[in-house]
Amino acid sequence: MNTLELIVPCFNEEEALPAFYESVAPVLSSLKGVNASFIFVDDGSRDNTLGAIKDFCRKDGKSKYISFSRNFGKEAAMLAGMKMSRADFVGIIDADLQHSPELISDMLKAVTEEDYDIAAARRLDRRGEARIKSAFSRSFYKLINKISDADIEDGAQDFRIMKRKVVEAIVSMPEYNRFSKGIFSWVGFKTKWFEHENRERVAGKTKWSFWKLFSYAVDGIIGFSTAPLKISLIIGTCTSILGFLYALYTIVKTLIFGADVKGYPSIICAILIVGGLILISLGITGEYVARMYMEVKNRPDYIINETNIIPDRGYFKGE
Ligand code: UDP
Ligand code: MG
Repeated sequence: MNTLELIVPCFNEEEALPAFYESVAPVLSSLKGVNASFIFVDDGSRDNTLGAIKDFCRKDGKSKYISFSRNFGKEAAMLAGMKMSRADFVGIIDADLQHSPELISDMLKAVTEEDYDIAAARRLDRRGEARIKSAFSRSFYKLINKISDADIEDGAQDFRIMKRKVVEAIVSMPEYNRFSKGIFSWVGFKTKWFEHENRERVAGKTKWSFWKLFSYAVDGIIGFSTAPLKISLIIGTCTSILGFLYALYTIVKTLIFGADVKGYPSIICAILIVGGLILISLGITGEYVARMYMEVKNRPDYIINETNIIPDRGYFKGE
């Protein structure tokens, strides 16, 4: 029989997990034709998330868990789950019930019976989200799709079920700075989209602050596009051309009308503008260099503290 493993990244989800397990576990056992189970990834939670996860594993006897030595982020949690899964179909779902569990059986059908490799969820609206956040998200998607070679659907979520070959492709991408939304779309494959409405989190609170989202957006742009480097080149070129024209104008003017000491403000303006542009382009280059530095260090994406999965031979039950 085919197997399905559902990866659940959890960071301080003690409050949400019981409700999650209660509503998703019955869905998994009701699936026909597959042997479905969970892979919980405890992303260095500081509350009793790991305890709750271990209880679930004991209860159903087939759930697996991975626990990190500290918080490595959702990207690392998803990657760990995908690397350690050996199932024919691999899914990802949030622990806060914002991803509708009712969709799971239709999503599975899309990859088993229909001719799709990925079944992924996309949210219909951004209800319940601050207006400024929606505006920023929308412009981010527009920008990244324009300047990068990954085509990211607006509203695409990590909630998905994938065939083994898709997971292999994703796991084979060795980059340290992982921007999953970009990676998911970059690997390609035939995707069926499932639309669903934005829901409130069942308990606990979101781990995303505005600044975290902003740096996530910067990661996405830098990870999937070199356009910012070109932009600084273009702006640099334009200002130098302007500078040369101005120099020419000054020379001609001096030859005709003689020199005067006026022009102090224009010099200061030019220094400030050009200095600023140089710093901006250095900063942009720096962002790329910093990421190259992290890539070259080749650090692991996460460190596992504890798991009931034995690499390359299934997993063992209990502790
Ligand atoms: N998450 C994680 N590590 C983190 C942050 C979040 O594993 O550092 C998990 C979290 O437990 C949840 C999912 O990622 O299952 C989505 O997080 P959250 O609900 O905070 O994000 P939002 O839904 O607000 O985008
Ligand atoms: Mg959430």
